[in-house]
Amino acid sequence: MKRVILIKYGELSTKKGNRNFFINTLYRMINEKLKNFDVKIFKDRSRMYIEFHDEDLDKIKEKLDSVFGIHMYHIAYIVDTNIEAIKELLISLVGNMDFKTFKVEVKRSDKSFSMHSQEMNRFLGGVVLKNKDNISVDVHNPDVLIKVEVRENHSYIYFNAYKGAGGYPLGSQPRGLLMLSGGIDSPVAGYLAMRRGVPIDCVYFEAVPHTSLEARNKVIELSRKLAKYAVDINLHIVNFTKIQEEIYKNCHPNYCITIMRRMMYRIMEKLAKKYNALAIINGESVGQVASQTLTSMSVINEVTNMPVLRPVCCFDKLEIIDLAKKIDTYDISILPYEDCCTVFVPKHPVINPSLEQAKKEEEKFDFLPLIDEVLENINTIVVKEEEEYSDLL
Ligand code: ATP
Ligand code: MG
Repeated sequence: MKRVILIKYGELSTKKGNRNFFINTLYRMINEKLKNFDVKIFKDRSRMYIEFHDEDLDKIKEKLDSVFGIHMYHIAYIVDTNIEAIKELLISLVGNMDFKTFKVEVKRSDKSFSMHSQEMNRFLGGVVLKNKDNISVDVHNPDVLIKVEVRENHSYIYFNAYKGAGGYPLGSQPRGLLMLSGGIDSPVAGYLAMRRGVPIDCVYFEAVPHTSLEARNKVIELSRKLAKYAVDINLHIVNFTKIQEEIYKNCHPNYCITIMRRMMYRIMEKLAKKYNALAIINGESVGQVASQTLTSMSVINEVTNMPVLRPVCCFDKLEIIDLAKKIDTYDISILPYEDCCTVFVPKHPVINPSLEQAKKEEEKFDFLPLIDEVLENINTIVVKEEEEYSDLL
């Protein structure tokens, strides 16, 4: 009995005009993710089918679970679309199964097939009843739901359903640049943006020697967790030391964070142009800290016209933490090593900064050449899920 993985697309099937583009993007991603397995992948307008070797199934499932654009998948038995063949397969399958109640649900996408879905439901239900003792039909709460999909050449029988990662296939949107700190929020923001189909590069601002190598390793490990949903991830490391020192030397302490974040946004915009990204993504959440009040956000955002995606902006911290645990970044994020934001936190950061004052503070030092210098010295690491980078954990 031959099995295949039957993939349902979900949300993308509603995008009529883009349908082929979405399916092809998903197909490429699945191909890439399964490139180390001996599989054959087929696609049509509503399903994708993967032929596999039994011994690889668990590992393949693990890979599929992080592919966005998969709504649901099933491990299905495949048979020719022919009522006798379907009947024979069903008899041999239920013979090995243990259940008291069942329901048959037929979906017939091959409209030329001789029987209607309802007729087939009754017919196959009768076949099961006749070939197994002490069982009955329960349409509301069956022990086993027997699904039968009748398609043009092949039909599929399955009893299981695995939830996919959802969202849109990665690559169905242009690139975004994620501001990745070592904290809890930004990896979650990156995950959510990727789930909308946005491939990401990550950008980490470090201030060596004020920040440690461990802090950098933390960000590498977080990128590695995100790489699970991509092929690999470029992590751009920005040497922010000089700019930060100049800010703290020249600007009013209460405005240091505001100015620092305006500098980060300026650099992000330039990097986005360099790496063909159309949006900045970060883990800001309204009201969480002084630099994330709406007033602060508007003063900080003023330096760029580029869209800034803030996927967790309206989430409670506990909701963000739940997601961080789900994507396995939480334990890394809570490691104690400080990043450049935490090292320089002033006692009383301004909660409602004025744009005018922020601009005045910035006039106190010549930051443009410093930004150019930073951009000339970006250190990029290509992070892959499978590779080991540090023994941080
Ligand atoms: P997180 O938990 O993600 O660190 P946070 O609540 O600590 O967020 P902030 O430190 O104010 O908040 O940072 C807000 C956002 O700015 C972060 O989510 C991240 O996207 C970005 N950011 C902050 N510091 C850095 C950094 N050193 N490098 C890159 N991005 C940063
Ligand atoms: Mg942080």
